[in-house]
Amino acid sequence: MADVSPGGYDADVIVVGAGPAGLAAATRVRWVKGYHAMACSVRIIESGTVGGLLRWGSCVLSGPGWAYKGQELTDRLMADIERLRIPIQHDQVVSIHRKGALLEVGLASGAALRSLAVILATGFRPLANESEYYLRGVRITYKGYEHFPRLLRACAKDASGRGLLVVGNEKTSHLKAMLRAHTSGAGPVTVLDGGELLEVMGETHVVAAKVRDAHGERIIDCGAILMDYNAFELTPALHVTGVEPARDLRGFLTTDGLMRTSEPGVFAAGDVTGRYASTLVALGDGVAAGLSAYAYAFERKFNHAPRLFAYAADDEVLPVKPIDLPVLPSDCVPLILTKGPSWVDGCTTLEAHALDTGRSLDDIRGELMPFITSKAITVHRRPLE
Ligand SMILES: Cc1cc2nc3c(=O)[nH]c(=O)nc-3n(C[C@H](O)[C@H](O)[C@H](O)COP(=O)(O)OP(=O)(O)OC[C@H]3O[C@@H](n4cnc5c(N)ncnc54)[C@H](O)[C@@H]3O)c2cc1C
Repeated sequence: MADVSPGGYDADVIVVGAGPAGLAAATRVRWVKGYHAMACSVRIIESGTVGGLLRWGSCVLSGPGWAYKGQELTDRLMADIERLRIPIQHDQVVSIHRKGALLEVGLASGAALRSLAVILATGFRPLANESEYYLRGVRITYKGYEHFPRLLRACAKDASGRGLLVVGNEKTSHLKAMLRAHTSGAGPVTVLDGGELLEVMGETHVVAAKVRDAHGERIIDCGAILMDYNAFELTPALHVTGVEPARDLRGFLTTDGLMRTSEPGVFAAGDVTGRYASTLVALGDGVAAGLSAYAYAFERKFNHAPRLFAYAADDEVLPVKPIDLPVLPSDCVPLILTKGPSWVDGCTTLEAHALDTGRSLDDIRGELMPFITSKAITVHRRPLE
């Protein structure tokens, strides 16, 4: 029946980015409703601070008569991530390559992780530590163009002759005339229109920035930094080599309604898809991408799609006693998500444990079943190449 070979990988699904889209996506990979559902394993990689753009004081999830502040929403999303013990790794994803049946995610640190599916929830750009300096020298273009002259004058005042660094991209040329007209007193104005902000420096307020561009890594002394999100909203900074999911003319990832990109096993959610930049959209995209990646990974492991009863009905005659879990294959490797028997170490197959202990496979399956239905355990199983 199975089209598999033994062997390990790091997580069924890797989520790139811990903004609202990524946090919602990772939660859904693990929080699959239904008594007989088997959760998948998931891991998040984040380059900056958990929460993504929600870290900026002015980001809220709001309706005309209600609002969740960004930090409040991040805290709620993170409480679920912690409850489900979903690991978050601090690193920047720089590549995604196919390695046989797996996707290999390359990190800036030089490490690599392997998975069955990847969700790109990378927003407009990788964040560093800039949100910690918001209104302490760092400001951001948003809120409508009529607001920009006042914003630039505020940046000039923050800089007070020590220099203003504008971090954007080639679309920052749109700001040229405004910068000339409204930054008197700022000191030298440097525009980083290709490259990356690596770190904001300064004890309480901005005093310098470490950047990387065509000239390499360097430190620019400045009293203020303007993050040109107006430019990033026109074309995102998504520099991940390897697989090449289709993009639109502006550089945003294109997806279908289930958040699948053109690359099998690669999904996308949130601002990186170039739709309306809104927390509510990012959360909804994240849920859809999470469920789609879950279904994809499940099907790779067991050669049939899972039922997602709470979200998508099945058009079929239902059996008298519906049991939705696959019979655990003897070559699968059980993995603890929250708790499980002590022999479950993430390397030992059912088969190997049966040989070691003389137990029958059915006895072992019976032992694991309550842990699986309570989503405390999943199994890894590597598809054949
Ligand atoms: C100033 C401002 C105010 C806003 N106000 C509102 C508002 O009032 N209401 C509202 O609904 N929306 C608002 N928004 C929009 C909302 O914040 C975004 O739409 C939402 O945060 C998008 O979520 P996301 O998860 O797609 O992206 P992000 O929040 O940008 O998160 C993406 C994450 O991915 C990480 N990342 C990127 N690349 C990599 C990589 N290669 N490796 C590892 N990690 C990576 C980033 O560091 C980041 O943490 C505002 C946005 C801004 C900028």
